[in-house]
Amino acid sequence: MAKSWSDKEITSILSSREPRMLDELFDAADRCRRDSVGPNVFLRGLIEFSNECQRNCYYCGIRKGNLSIRRYRLTNYEIIALAMSAFEGGYSSLTLQSGESDETREINEVVHFVQVIKAQSQARDNTGQGLGITLSIGELTFDQYQALWEAGAHRYLLRIETSDRQLFSRIHPPGQYYDKRLHCLDALKTIGYQVGTGIMVGLPGQSIENLVRDLQFFVERDIDMLGIGPYIPHPNTPLYKQPAFDFDPFIMTLKIIALARLMMPDINIVCSTALQIINPRGLELGLKAGANIVMPVLTPEDNRGNYSLYINKNYTQPQELVDRIRMFGYEVDPWTWGDSRHYAARQAQE
Ligand code: SAM
Repeated sequence: MAKSWSDKEITSILSSREPRMLDELFDAADRCRRDSVGPNVFLRGLIEFSNECQRNCYYCGIRKGNLSIRRYRLTNYEIIALAMSAFEGGYSSLTLQSGESDETREINEVVHFVQVIKAQSQARDNTGQGLGITLSIGELTFDQYQALWEAGAHRYLLRIETSDRQLFSRIHPPGQYYDKRLHCLDALKTIGYQVGTGIMVGLPGQSIENLVRDLQFFVERDIDMLGIGPYIPHPNTPLYKQPAFDFDPFIMTLKIIALARLMMPDINIVCSTALQIINPRGLELGLKAGANIVMPVLTPEDNRGNYSLYINKNYTQPQELVDRIRMFGYEVDPWTWGDSRHYAARQAQE
């Protein structure tokens, strides 16, 4: 049973600028992750299958209002071929991500390719398990989430972005609602998904107090997976010129990952691409702080540059990423899905 953390304890860690405290925090988080989820790092091959988006989030480079990127959507054939080549290449889990569309025709396409990927990978797998599929395609209706679950997806990532209602409304346009996200997270849990959420760290106007609440929010929502990344300003977004956060977003993200590991020992925590981009030690320190999931980007080279949530000039080849994870002393277990242990514990209680 994890100890519960008071707001005061969390605040004191997040506000501290003491290097010794940071070392102690990371050591504690690393020990905790080894005891609770083990030394393995699990891979999710990331396929960003479309950058078309009907939303206009003020921070995001693929927002509908950004007319300076080339829009793409991979064909179902391309997505299935990519997924199967990842499977043949040793990936047992994928994350399929895109900009947002809740149009029935679009979602039916996703249902279709998830079904095909699932069936083809199961047919080629001795265990019959096939590929584990995580989706990250935004806010949908209950019935759409249900259809995707029945098609074979079993994990879903939907970041709340910030648990503070006011900050949420400052970083999203009118018509995008905090409560809608909460309803979506509830729907996903009711259907049976392993549910992941998360935040961006370093948003203009974000305070330590907000981040303390975010951590308590994750605990209260009893989440299975977490994705925490630094906010990286994108020049073609309304938030770009807003005054930055007072703290170093890299260190702050690491502290939040470490605290999340200590507060929720058996969840899966992603070492986000954004964390790896803003600092060359992002992968190493993200893992050390307690992350146990890495998502090598498998999006085709021609499209990768247009999945530009933020300015990203550093692309790490998947094999190099795996080599580096091993070099840092972690094991990569390609044959295991690496589902959230917290989810299993939650299911056993229900
Ligand atoms: N449309 C889906 C959704 O909203 O969940 C999935 C794609 S969305 C682009 C994935 C995540 O990218 C968002 O949840 C957000 O946290 C992150 N993101 C977008 N813009 C970002 C930025 N400028 N810096 C860091 N992360 C960003």
